[in-house]
Amino acid sequence: MPLLGESEARPYHVHAAVTDSPFVMISDHAGRAVPERLGDLGLPVDEWDRHIAYDIGIREVGRHLQQALGCLLVEQVYSRLVIDCNRAAGHPTSIPPVSDGAPVPGNQGLSAVERRQREEAILHAYHDEIERHLARRKPETTLFVSLHSFTPAMQDGRRRPWDIGLLHDHDPHSARLMRTLLEEEGGLHVGDNQPYVLNSQNEYSGPYHAGRRNLPALEIEIRQDLISDEVGQKLWAERLARLLPRFWERRKEMA
Ligand SMILES: [Zn+2]
Repeated sequence: MPLLGESEARPYHVHAAVTDSPFVMISDHAGRAVPERLGDLGLPVDEWDRHIAYDIGIREVGRHLQQALGCLLVEQVYSRLVIDCNRAAGHPTSIPPVSDGAPVPGNQGLSAVERRQREEAILHAYHDEIERHLARRKPETTLFVSLHSFTPAMQDGRRRPWDIGLLHDHDPHSARLMRTLLEEEGGLHVGDNQPYVLNSQNEYSGPYHAGRRNLPALEIEIRQDLISDEVGQKLWAERLARLLPRFWERRKEMA
């Protein structure tokens, strides 16, 4: 029996480009749907509102930004608790048995077949869709942008002070340039490879799609309390919609 029934949501949602925009945006943790067959993964209902289930606020930021820029946006529809689309298949946190201290009973003791079903129906379907779009584009007129949000504090209580973080691996140059533009806004605390360090061991989407092709890339992480309501979501989308075209122009001048 397939993981996703006929009437269930496709694993990705594509917002098509309506301009020749260089930006290709993806949102790995936009959704928090669960395939009907998996129920609630045995998790109490309030856990589904936490950052462990999805990246709070980022779907709305991405959609406003996509509208403003007219670029492509590919969103993941299913929760990162079903399978984390920013992890390689088989990664220890791909289908997390525990997430930020919360046990996920429906992810414990899975068979190889159950794992493979989630990988094929959700992880690979999503990344294959992104590949289809990238394969049609010229690398020199493409900027790969992945959108995320991060919790202000993990379960250990440590606070994360950054308003926004730029994660980078193969393209530190783009991160540095975007950081300059964000700091020119005044008053923003911009993290450099914070709150996470990007590399091919701990993440998947950026290294797989952009690193492998050596595409210019930005990975943007916004602190969740700044985008938990519509005012914040619009403010951040408007800011990025203003800065990204400026970033792209400056990057071309410096190339
Ligand atoms: Zn994320």
